[in-house]
Amino acid sequence: MIQIKNREEIELMRESALIVSKTLGMIAAEIKPGVTTLHLDKLAEEFIRDHDAYPAFLGMYGFPNSLCMSPNAQVVHGIPNDKPLENGDIISVDCGSYKNGFYGDHAYTFEVGEVSPEVKKLVQVTKESLYKGIAAFKLGNRIGDLGYAIQEHAENNGYGVVRELVGHGLGKKMHEDPEIPNYGRRGRGKKFKEGMVIAIEPMINMGTYQTNHLSDGWTILTKDGLPSAHFEHDVALVNGKPELLSTYKYIYEALGITSDEEDAFRQNL
Ligand code: MG
Ligand code: MG
Repeated sequence: MIQIKNREEIELMRESALIVSKTLGMIAAEIKPGVTTLHLDKLAEEFIRDHDAYPAFLGMYGFPNSLCMSPNAQVVHGIPNDKPLENGDIISVDCGSYKNGFYGDHAYTFEVGEVSPEVKKLVQVTKESLYKGIAAFKLGNRIGDLGYAIQEHAENNGYGVVRELVGHGLGKKMHEDPEIPNYGRRGRGKKFKEGMVIAIEPMINMGTYQTNHLSDGWTILTKDGLPSAHFEHDVALVNGKPELLSTYKYIYEALGITSDEEDAFRQNL
């Protein structure tokens, strides 16, 4: 069942979303060649606890860490380890928080040092497809419209859209109804309703959409070994339009990037 949130609940969810946004901003400043994902995971856990929140992924379904860190051909659910990041890597960092009874869930794919133009484009198009999906999260549209918007942009660029994992409703549970696929057909699926809060999270592969599982029981990777990128925002449906609860502004501040991407997005709705 879809859990509709009132204004007060959405404000509490914004707090949880801001914690994960700030955590990824802190991580952004630390990502460089030579740093281990396990080190970054410890920093994130401490940071989230310092903000009077709980690192939601830690122990969830038995996951051993606070961040999912998935480099290169790993799609999602990578487990932090002591292998140093290398120049030219990309790494998807997915972060969860729990505060005041509500979850935040947020992801960004970072470039480590100098990344090849082909991989840079994959990262850029994946982020663009996230915003295409968010723009389709409005009154009058259906779940299929959102998935279509993401899929069309990714496939027009020759990329594969992961089918195995999807976005989701977000609230008092990390994964609520409905499922939000990153693929779909226009006019199909459930209608969006005022007060819905969802996590939209395209996972886009440079090659085939097909995936494999690592024997660790968690990590999902591309079947052809080509890179994959992943971005995730928490979004509420307010006054018929999508309202971003999470923000990449802390990441851009940390990286010294001037971006009006979120403001421009709001103005174009
Ligand atoms: Mg996530
Ligand atoms: Mg999620």
